[in-house]
Amino acid sequence: MSAVNNVLIVGGGIGGLCAAIALRRKGIEVDLIELKSEWTVYGVGIIQQSNVVREMAKLGVLDGYLDAAYAFEDVAIYGPGGQQLARIPGQRLAGPQYPANVGISRLALHKVLSETALQLGANVRLGLSVEALDDNGTEVDVLFTDGNRGHYDLVVGADGLFSKVRSLVFGDAYTPRFTGQSVWRYNFPRAPQIDHLANYQSADGNAGLVPLAGNLMYLFLTSHEPSNPWMDPADLAAQMRQRLQGFTGLIGELREQITDNSQVVYKPMEVVFVDEPWHRGRVLLIGDAAHATTPHLGQGAGMAIEDAIVLSEELTHEQSATTSVEQQLQRFMARRFERCKYISESSVLAGDKEMQHDRAFDRIGLVKQMLARTAEPI
Ligand SMILES: Cc1cc2nc3c(=O)[nH]c(=O)nc-3n(C[C@H](O)[C@H](O)[C@H](O)COP(=O)(O)OP(=O)(O)OC[C@H]3O[C@@H](n4cnc5c(N)ncnc54)[C@H](O)[C@@H]3O)c2cc1C
Repeated sequence: MSAVNNVLIVGGGIGGLCAAIALRRKGIEVDLIELKSEWTVYGVGIIQQSNVVREMAKLGVLDGYLDAAYAFEDVAIYGPGGQQLARIPGQRLAGPQYPANVGISRLALHKVLSETALQLGANVRLGLSVEALDDNGTEVDVLFTDGNRGHYDLVVGADGLFSKVRSLVFGDAYTPRFTGQSVWRYNFPRAPQIDHLANYQSADGNAGLVPLAGNLMYLFLTSHEPSNPWMDPADLAAQMRQRLQGFTGLIGELREQITDNSQVVYKPMEVVFVDEPWHRGRVLLIGDAAHATTPHLGQGAGMAIEDAIVLSEELTHEQSATTSVEQQLQRFMARRFERCKYISESSVLAGDKEMQHDRAFDRIGLVKQMLARTAEPI
């Protein structure tokens, strides 16, 4: 019998929900608490590459997920005017009958994951967080923010960049850092030619178009914002257009259609990376709580999803009945640390090279290397 029979997951984002699904599928009792009392996510999309499609198959959600997503094969890299510099063929890691990559709206992904977690019997409570964690070596006594208590074999902090669990366990050792760049996003009707992930490189930042559905795509742009300025919500569309001036072709055409301030999603890039191990006793961090990085390689959520699945595998490994929780978490770390470190550092490096206008930097080579490394078994 597994040493871990009941788990508290703190945070109902992508990582927490995938952990809930993976653990419930292995028969482990799951309580999941989410700070937001309305369980929604913001309305732009996300790129999920072939390693994520493979993990969605392992989670047993692939069909519903693909129904809600836009499947595509290739990743192309273009110059600022649209001239193709490289086209990287997709890898069908979930099996030949499944697509290599997908784009999916965050709302659609949340719906698939939250409905599956609930169907599998995860006990979800909204508008709730943890106040204190007391690990006595055999279980964790949890004081919730509503004054109630619970006892768990393991607590998983999947509460994102500003993780409360991280601060309860690691104090102020880790604080998110602004990298100097921000991301801008805007939804459009899908252009017919955007049937793949299209990255456009310019001297000042990178833009991209991601198909999300038959009739939907989003445009993203990275920009250098050294002083991390406050952006007036009433001026966001003009600010985004201004930062897209270096692009012509399709991006240039779309730029002029960015007129609705309320549809611009602006986000400064903040990162944090917790040194190994990501656990103290029976409290573990996964996802952005442990390794939030920049979106340059489109793998942040991918790493959170992989964390969730590897955790469920290690807690229910065939020798788990005779190994301690500490040993199980060490095995988890052995499979996760270097992989997440590589993604975190490579993503930050890509952003640093953009800010330095380093034209010698081989971004195409980095993308190819990342795709090869993430295709490896975990
Ligand atoms: C601009 C941008 C673009 C990105 N694009 C991509 C992409 O294309 N592909 C990709 O793979 N990744 C992408 N990422 C990264 C990806 O969004 C994150 O890595 C991913 O969301 C991490 O999931 P998570 O569950 O660990 O954290 P989160 O998604 O942040 O979820 C944390 C959850 O915990 C809740 N929470 C917070 N505090 C508490 C608390 N105290 N108590 C209880 N609950 C709490 C939050 O409300 C939230 O629901 C992007 C990130 C950014 C910023």
